[in-house]
Amino acid sequence: MRNNIISLNNVSKQYSKKDAFVLNDVSLAVGSSEFIALLGPSGSGKSTLLHIAGLLDKQTSGDVFIEGKNTAKMSDNEKTFLRLLKIGFVYQYHHLLQEFTALENVMLPMLAARVSTKEAKEKAEHLLKTVKLDHKFDFFPSELSGGQKQRVAIARALANDPILLLADEPTGNLDPETAVTVFDDLTEIMSKTKMSAIIATHNYELANKMNKKYLIADGKLLEK
Ligand code: ADP
Ligand code: MG
Repeated sequence: MRNNIISLNNVSKQYSKKDAFVLNDVSLAVGSSEFIALLGPSGSGKSTLLHIAGLLDKQTSGDVFIEGKNTAKMSDNEKTFLRLLKIGFVYQYHHLLQEFTALENVMLPMLAARVSTKEAKEKAEHLLKTVKLDHKFDFFPSELSGGQKQRVAIARALANDPILLLADEPTGNLDPETAVTVFDDLTEIMSKTKMSAIIATHNYELANKMNKKYLIADGKLLEK
């Protein structure tokens, strides 16, 4: 277990007593540099699993270990720092802050982690270059295309060098062609780091580019 970046052990989730189990005794272990696709129809529980993995929501039963540490024993403060420093999130909708530029949006998680402004700015510039936005540092989200906004969101997720990237249909709002280019850039970045990722997607073509594929159906997780 210690070599796993994250493991979910017998995790179940029921939103309320009258509801069915969205996750029913699910176990998943993700090793270093593993790139995992999470497939499943709408409503199957992909977001639920990612929220539990990212400590944004709590499972009804079972345990979540991050780098071998049981998160159940962590205080809220510890979990907040773990999220900030170790986990990067990319959502289907970019959730960029509209009143900040692309560069500032990428700097914010670093400033929250008390990185100096100078260092945060240099790193944000580097990350935006990596996602091919060197010419858009000072643009506001409203001045960027959908694909560009999602690239900024990816750069922001990588700001604090997370060990785990959790992405919830990150290309779901993009046209098919843009989805492929954004996704290919993400895979290229991933291949240069030891980061692991769980990426929820409806897109089998994209999922086939990853190391492993899992399907959620009827609360169970099946390796495909
Ligand atoms: P997916 O991301 O695969 O579309 P979700 O994880 O969002 O699926 O949802 C799985 C199931 O859990 C759905 O039936 C959904 O209605 C339910 N669900 C999701 N979030 C909540 C919530 N906060 N409260 C109650 N039910 C929820
Ligand atoms: Mg979802």
